[in-house]
Amino acid sequence: MVDLHSQYEKVQDEMDKAIRSVIDSAAFVKGPKVTEFQTHLEQYLGVRHVIPVANGTEAIQIALMALGLQPGDEVITPTFTFIATAEVVALLGLKPVVVDVDPDTFCMTAQQVAKAITPKTKAIVPVNLFGQNAPLEDLKALVDEHHLFLVEDACQSMGSHYIFRDGSRVSSGTVGIMGCTSFFPSKNLGCYGDGGAIFTNDDLLAEKARSIANHGMTVRYHHDRVGVNSRLDAIQAAVLDVKLPHLDDYIRSRQHAADFYNEAFQSLSWVKTPSVAPYTTHAFHQYTLVLSDGIDRPALQAFLKEKGIPSMVYYPIPLHLQKAYRDPRYAEGDFPVAEHLASHVISLPMHTELDEEQLNYITESFKSFHP
Ligand SMILES: *Cc1c(COP(=O)(O)O)cnc(C)c1O
Repeated sequence: MVDLHSQYEKVQDEMDKAIRSVIDSAAFVKGPKVTEFQTHLEQYLGVRHVIPVANGTEAIQIALMALGLQPGDEVITPTFTFIATAEVVALLGLKPVVVDVDPDTFCMTAQQVAKAITPKTKAIVPVNLFGQNAPLEDLKALVDEHHLFLVEDACQSMGSHYIFRDGSRVSSGTVGIMGCTSFFPSKNLGCYGDGGAIFTNDDLLAEKARSIANHGMTVRYHHDRVGVNSRLDAIQAAVLDVKLPHLDDYIRSRQHAADFYNEAFQSLSWVKTPSVAPYTTHAFHQYTLVLSDGIDRPALQAFLKEKGIPSMVYYPIPLHLQKAYRDPRYAEGDFPVAEHLASHVISLPMHTELDEEQLNYITESFKSFHP
């Protein structure tokens, strides 16, 4: 599904030097390399504060802690997503409230969210799924009206842009009061281990989040609040700092692969190719097709595997049907779009190193499946 080694080979000398210099400096935790990367990422995103943390899941957790959410507060999130969002909501004793998603963009809609708001709602956490942004301008209008917080899960949308109705654009993850991303190796900007970051333009929240990520300290050994230990390693910061100048090229490669797939599959009657909403660019973290009713997905996956082509199902079970998150408020059938997607989506190889030959082979093989 990804080819991280070929990507590494293209920057090998620079990368080896960067990692070596961290080892030579022996500043493995915090230190100048992390600060350097932080500053470069702030410049790239056009955001006042980047707070580097240990992974994307903890980025969301720390953001919700910094906002002062209390046990029992409701947080609205989509049911068709990776588990991390609901997980930290549950761990903090908050109440996850899930909503269905749009059948074309796979993201939550403002209409669905509006119906789920109660007096206990405190935050909305949209997931910018597969690389395109949720309708953030509409969601922002909703949180402003109801005095809530908008926290973006931008773990898959790093490097994409949100386009406002007036034509202005901002980096994904910087529309909400806080945005969270992951540097997991296969993400759009991936390190060589775990990593993550929080983005915000709010000085006070940045200070709080920084303190929470560092055991609730502002002055050493003075703990003002309950925190966690969540740091980006200096070696990971060095890796990310080498890759950041290439991020726009990486995204162009993904978009090119997506265009190739779209072109190849447009005449295929039994798949629906991804739609890109007018208010966003698409970083194509994943390339995800929706199969028509009656297509045997396991048979298709086995057919592709036979030809040496990996495929994945992101995500086979929506949140409200996960065993750990079963809730008497929700039953099967409550979120028909998410449930339909869970049983009909299939994702194809998507990364920065797909060449024409590979793309040709994948698409020709895919098209030779007889449903
Ligand atoms: C990857 C991902 C996360 C979690 O990031 P980690 O760094 O793996 O903790 C959260 N949300 C979404 C949508 C993701 O894709």
